[in-house]
Amino acid sequence: MAVKSNGSSEPFMKVPSIKFTKLFIDGEFVDSISGRTFETIDPSTGEAIARVAEGDKEDIDLAVKAARAAFDDGPWPRFSGPERRRIMMKFADLIDEHVEELAALDTIDAGKLFSMNKALDVPIGANFLRYYAGAADKIHGETLKMSRELQGYTLREPIGVVGHIIPWNFPSNMFFIKVSPALAAGCTMVVKPAEQTPLSALYYAHLAKLAGVPNGVINVVTGYGHTAGAAISSHMDIDKVSFTGSSEVGRIVMQAAATSNLKSVTLELGGKCPLIIFNDADVEKAANLALQGTLYNKARRSHFAFADTLDSRILVQEGIYDELVKTLAEKANTWVVGDPFDPSSHQGPQANKKQYEKVLSYIEHGKREGAMLLTGGKACGEKGYYIEPTIFTDVTDNMLIAKDEIFGPVMSLMKFKTVDEAIKRANATRYGLAAGIVTNDLNVANTVSRSIRAGMIWINCYLALDIDCPVGGYKMSGFGRDHGMEALDQYLQVKAVVTPIYNSPW
Ligand code: NAD
Repeated sequence: MAVKSNGSSEPFMKVPSIKFTKLFIDGEFVDSISGRTFETIDPSTGEAIARVAEGDKEDIDLAVKAARAAFDDGPWPRFSGPERRRIMMKFADLIDEHVEELAALDTIDAGKLFSMNKALDVPIGANFLRYYAGAADKIHGETLKMSRELQGYTLREPIGVVGHIIPWNFPSNMFFIKVSPALAAGCTMVVKPAEQTPLSALYYAHLAKLAGVPNGVINVVTGYGHTAGAAISSHMDIDKVSFTGSSEVGRIVMQAAATSNLKSVTLELGGKCPLIIFNDADVEKAANLALQGTLYNKARRSHFAFADTLDSRILVQEGIYDELVKTLAEKANTWVVGDPFDPSSHQGPQANKKQYEKVLSYIEHGKREGAMLLTGGKACGEKGYYIEPTIFTDVTDNMLIAKDEIFGPVMSLMKFKTVDEAIKRANATRYGLAAGIVTNDLNVANTVSRSIRAGMIWINCYLALDIDCPVGGYKMSGFGRDHGMEALDQYLQVKAVVTPIYNSPW
């Protein structure tokens, strides 16, 4: 398969000049203390885009100091809800004004389709701010029943200084999924974007300042996970860490939190999500859901969605299996892999070299383990990190491609006979992020959705989400929830206040 490009030296969209490459600490762009920088790479060419400041433990210390001062003595936690809301709304409007430039930054940094960044990722980031801005003046506790002699109530207070550690798959979205509820709660924060995609986060720091977010409230430290990220999770003066990334690193983050100051932890981790297609499903629709679910993120899509919820395990009931395989092959062969700025591309490059090599090595595993290659199966294009949309049939539960999170355009088709078998096999994973069910039988849909141990179930749709829909995992997919009012709770403490009633024996 060839990678489609526009065949000229002119890009589809002018790539923006890179304005922000330094750390953002206490309201200023600064060099890292060591003076070191690292390259960020365009995955469609494999070439460097810019050098970005490499933050380390000392830079995290400075950023935490600024965030602590802003929390303990600054105005942000003391502002009224409407004051915080006004600034967050202004921040959101500024994002809208710069949407093209921000979308292009994520495209050159992460290889994500420009059309999707512009229509979804960046505007939805702004809408996360608006959603939580609306909650900023509705944070309140409860009156308690207590005994007859006592009256009590709860206060809900910001949890304090938060460390956000985020991955590369949705640089803009993920930034606002984390930052928006923390801002609404009145927290201050240090954000560490993924080393593969640091650019848009720095731009957002600049816009936050323009919007009037006080100095020290949002600090952005770019750098590597084992240095800057580890310094966040082990910091003695950070009250909470909110992490999204792999289960392996999630475990390290939790250990560091436990052995430092027992900070509160939220983990949004990996998945190996099943899509279960029953005999009565419409083949056309089921094939579309399977393809969009597996190839999405590198792919075009009309809904608001997440890539880590990829349904790379497709369990298909035996009566529909052959027809579905045929339809999937036809559809996958029309899938356009190409320049992420090209509006006709369905799929761009993998986000970085490490991920590209990881996906290719899983494809080789699949071949060696005896799975049958229906489409794809190799890299494509002369440069950049492009991989053909790859579908394996005859996959068995014990194969590595059926067990491990691949996080790339690789689909595994597996055949099952009964509803009970489907439930058992869908649950036979260490992960529990999401699952999909395609059937018109209400009883089957209800039974299966209640039997799957995962944080999100889609019935006759896939990756359909909105801001108020809580997202998070069961089992090794993590704990805590992003999105919705559940996420706001993660950034609040509950304090109980009790006082005797007049004339009581207390
Ligand atoms: P990753 O775990 O390698 O890195 C995520 C972040 O953690 C990066 O910022 C990285 O620098 C940092 N990090 C790395 N080592 C660290 C350490 N020792 N201490 C502290 N921080 C460290 O994951 P990735 O490859 O960037 O992202 C892909 C993973 O993210 C996939 O497993 C995917 O499933 C998961 N993900 C989950 C969700 C969800 O909501 N559950 C959403 C998006 C991505």
